[in-house]
Amino acid sequence: MKITRLRLLGFKSFVDPTELVIEPGLTGVVGPNGCGKSNLLEALRWVMGETSHKSMRAAAMDDVIFSGTTGRPERQSAEVTMFLDNSARRAPAEFNDSDTIEITRRIERDAGSAYRINGREVRARDVKVLFEDAATGARSPALVRQGQIGELVNAKPEQRRRILEDAAGIAGLHTRRHEAELR
Ligand code: ATP
Ligand code: MG
Repeated sequence: MKITRLRLLGFKSFVDPTELVIEPGLTGVVGPNGCGKSNLLEALRWVMGETSHKSMRAAAMDDVIFSGTTGRPERQSAEVTMFLDNSARRAPAEFNDSDTIEITRRIERDAGSAYRINGREVRARDVKVLFEDAATGARSPALVRQGQIGELVNAKPEQRRRILEDAAGIAGLHTRRHEAELR
């Protein structure tokens, strides 16, 4: 499933509504230091269910909310929406009734995150499994952070297997098996 659009509102430096259209082919994001290139990639990872505030370069998850600048007050919430092209109808059955899948994550100060898929409130787990089945997600090897190549070279074999399983698209099965074992 292709990501076609990303919409940000109050996420980090993107205080005003911002929409990024991702056309077919290669997309480059360029701009001076501090203009928000890394913030964009973090928004992508965040809406896919990232739970680690550290990997968002934030001391707490609330710090992804616009924190204000001189003349602009801080915001009380942040929202990121990702649009996926589902014309090939590859989404899990419960979300597979439209050509576009719209996934939204919203955070309110001191109140945590909520997720919606196609406007319907869902659990974080639904979002996680949706992306794992599509062989991508917040921890996808397709999203390469600075320093990550070095980590991969030094990783233990079990950690490297996890990366291969993610790439093969079977990580969603692990999540389901883990839950089945807990029941
Ligand atoms: P570089 O080229 O140096 O890698 P970049 O384009 O990747 O830069 P980012 O790291 O994405 O830039 O953006 C950093 C900017 O985002 C900083 O100016 C920082 O103040 C701002 N920023 C981060 N979090 C917030 C927040 N919660 N509220 C407002 N601004 C924020
Ligand atoms: Mg950067």
